[in-house]
Amino acid sequence: MTVAQDLHELEAHAAHNYHPLPIVITEAEGAWVTDVEGRRYLDALAGYSALNFGHRHPQLIAAAEAQLRRVTLTSRAFHHDQFAPFCADLARLTGMDAVLPMNTGAEAVETAIKLARRWGYRVKGVERDRATIVVADDNFHGRTTTIVGFSTDPDAREDFGPFAPGFRSVPFGDAAAIEAAIDETTVAVLLEPVQGEAGIRVPPPGYLREVRRITRERDVLFLADEIQSGLGRTGTTFACDLEDVVPDVFLLGKALGGGVVPVSAIAANRELMDVFTPGSHGSTFGGNPLACAVGRAVIAMLETGEFQARGRELGARLDAGLRALPQDRVVEVRTIGLWAGIELAPGNRARTVCERMLAEGVLAKDTHETTVRLAPPLVVTEDEVDHIVEVLGAAIG
Ligand SMILES: *Cc1c(COP(=O)(O)O)cnc(C)c1O
Repeated sequence: MTVAQDLHELEAHAAHNYHPLPIVITEAEGAWVTDVEGRRYLDALAGYSALNFGHRHPQLIAAAEAQLRRVTLTSRAFHHDQFAPFCADLARLTGMDAVLPMNTGAEAVETAIKLARRWGYRVKGVERDRATIVVADDNFHGRTTTIVGFSTDPDAREDFGPFAPGFRSVPFGDAAAIEAAIDETTVAVLLEPVQGEAGIRVPPPGYLREVRRITRERDVLFLADEIQSGLGRTGTTFACDLEDVVPDVFLLGKALGGGVVPVSAIAANRELMDVFTPGSHGSTFGGNPLACAVGRAVIAMLETGEFQARGRELGARLDAGLRALPQDRVVEVRTIGLWAGIELAPGNRARTVCERMLAEGVLAKDTHETTVRLAPPLVVTEDEVDHIVEVLGAAIG
């Protein structure tokens, strides 16, 4: 029996909605994980950027432990002392003045969709129940039925309909296509500034700025899904910072929970956020004391700028290393900050490459058939970056 078959039996009672690589992790610290047999692996995926600060960063664990000893959950029926500071801290980080915390990324996206529609009816004057939102082909915004309804990935949507209407998808990176899709019913453009799941697709220079200009001119909200691209990954606090663009709404998640607890949020200006009134939206766990305490520690770490700087410096090193890979097996290398999509030549399976890397002690993940995705935690060293590139090079060779 192969390891993979063994694991399949081990997880006999689990749904088969994932196809994990054959490793069973039992411990982790920083950029490294250990499996049940005591083998160590360098984590070059970092929980799809949920672990930007590495596993169990001491500051994050300290914040979580301190909060575990005080209060972990109150529900939003009552105030708690971590809530206001968390909202204030995240408002400062985003440059916005209002924050609505949820738990998962998909919930942040749902929250932004609700905000945009309500704003459309109540402020812009769109006819009730006619609102449309422009999205990009190959988007990934989560797994709820509304969200997969506007996915262009058949695996994500097939046989989960009927879907919510009101979305128009246009090619990513094409600002003119966005402009053409906007009409009097359009309330928002929802985009990942860099498409993560699609394979680290970086839009052409000027795209985000164009989207900002168009949305402003046409009185349409710009919702930036920075759930994967944000919080240091691109070498800046937000991917939108790369073009000095400020969206109307930031959508955050993944790294906001520091790899400790799920924390998501949207941030916007007060006048926009005030479309939400008591009873119109909520979450039992959203903004809970533990989440807020960890989120505050994450924000404090980002406010030093240290992690963004590492993202830039280590990212440049990763980029240089990847560009030196043998060109016959690699058709494209896309990088931004410490984040890379390596597009293999047709006929090469990214899954096989990731399995070979695993055997050599490096964790990476394929996306689609032919893309290897790298997103090491921002705490990796230069030598570790070089090691990732070396192991990747051998795995594709
Ligand atoms: C992961 C992700 C989501 C969904 O987050 P979940 O926490 O898995 O619900 C949404 N948008 C983007 C860009 C993501 O990468």
